[in-house]
Amino acid sequence: MQPSLLFLFKANILETLNNSKYKLLSNMILKVNPLKPESKLIKIAADAIKSGELVAFPTETVYGLGADALNGEACNKIFTAKGRPQDNPLIVHVDSMKMAESVGEIPKEYRQILNEIWPSPITFIIKKKAKLPKSVTAGLETVAVRMPAHPIALALIKEANTPIAAPSANLSGKPSPTEAKTIIEELGKKAAVIIDGGPTFFGLESTVIDLDSFTIVRPGPFTPEEIAKKFGKKPKIYFAPKNIEKPISPGLKYRHYAPDKPLFLFSGKRENLTKISNAIERDFCVIGSNELCNSIYNKHALKISLGALGNPYEIAKNLFSALRSIDKYAVDFGICESFPDEGIGLAIMNRLGKACGGNIFSEMTQLKKLIKIGHI
Ligand code: AMP
Ligand code: MG
Repeated sequence: MQPSLLFLFKANILETLNNSKYKLLSNMILKVNPLKPESKLIKIAADAIKSGELVAFPTETVYGLGADALNGEACNKIFTAKGRPQDNPLIVHVDSMKMAESVGEIPKEYRQILNEIWPSPITFIIKKKAKLPKSVTAGLETVAVRMPAHPIALALIKEANTPIAAPSANLSGKPSPTEAKTIIEELGKKAAVIIDGGPTFFGLESTVIDLDSFTIVRPGPFTPEEIAKKFGKKPKIYFAPKNIEKPISPGLKYRHYAPDKPLFLFSGKRENLTKISNAIERDFCVIGSNELCNSIYNKHALKISLGALGNPYEIAKNLFSALRSIDKYAVDFGICESFPDEGIGLAIMNRLGKACGGNIFSEMTQLKKLIKIGHI
C-alpha cells in the first residue's frame, strides 16, 4: 500500500474516533484484536453495516466482504465490488440460533445438533424465510447460513444486530484473502471499512452442506468424518461434473482460486515430482510440502513451502497466499503437489483442483503438452 494511503486511513480513524457524530468519509482500516475485539472499533464497523455500506472482516476461515443481509441494495454492492455473477448466492452469517431461524427454517431434528456445533466453519443450506432479499439467495428457495467461530465476526454481527451476508473478500475467481493486506490491494476502496484482525485461523472457506439431501457441496475445515460423528450419519459428497450448467450449488460452475499464470497439479508420487522439478529449465514456482521443497535444488525453481506433510491444517492455512504469490514472482508457471484427500485434505484438493482448472499431470511429457512448448 502507498504510504499516503496509509496516512489517509489513519487520519480517517482518528477523525472518526474523535468525532462523536460518526460519519463515514471514505474507506478506513481498523486494526482490531482478534481475541478481544475493541468495542469502540466494532461499533464503527457495525454502524457502516447498518448504513448499508460494505465491511470486510475476518472469520475463522477467510476474510468476508459483508453487508446487511436484510438490505437488498447493500447486498447488491457486494456483487458489484467483487464482479460476482448474480446467480451465485451469498452465505448469511448469524450470531445466534434465533438469528439463524429468522432467515431460514432449521429442520426440527437438526436443531439441537446445530446448536451444539455452531459457531464453527460449517454452513447449512436450509429453506429460506420470505424476508430475505432476492440478491442474497440468487432467487433460490434456500439460504446458506453459518455462525462463524471468530470473536470479531460474532461481535460485528451482534453489534449490527442484523444477519450479515458475506462472500469471501476477493475479486470473483481469485483465491480468498486470509490477511487484510490482500483486500486492501485487491478491493481498495470498494469496502467502506476493512477490519484487520490478523491472519485467519483455517485459511480455507467453510464446509457447505445441504441439510435436505445431507450432501456436502463444498468441502471445508469441518470434515466429512466430523460431520458423520456429530450427526450419526455419513454425508454424501457432491463432485460436480465438468462443464455443468445447473449444479446443486451455483458457485460450483465458476472457476475459482485461480492465479493469472498457469498452474499445473501433479498427481503422482512425490519422488517423481522431485525429479521433474529438478529437470525443468525455465523459471517456475513449485508449491508443496516442506518435504517436497527440501528435495528440490533446481536454481530455476522458486519454492513455496506450505508446511509439513504431517500437518495438513498448516498446509490449508498457507494455501491461498501461496497461490496468489505465483503472480507476484517473475516465473512462467506454477506446479503444485497433491495431498491425501482425507480430513481437511479433501478441501485442500478441492481448491487445488479448481485453481489448476483441470491441468493435471503425472509425467514430464504431459506437463510439456499442457504448457504447449517443447522446452521446459
Ligand atoms: P463464497 O461466497 O465464495 O464463500 O461461496 C459460497 C458458496 O455457497 C457458493 O459456492 C454458493 O454457490 C454456495 N451457496 C450459497 N447459498 C446457496 C444455496 N442457497 N444453495 C446452494 N449453494 C449455495
Ligand atoms: Mg469465494
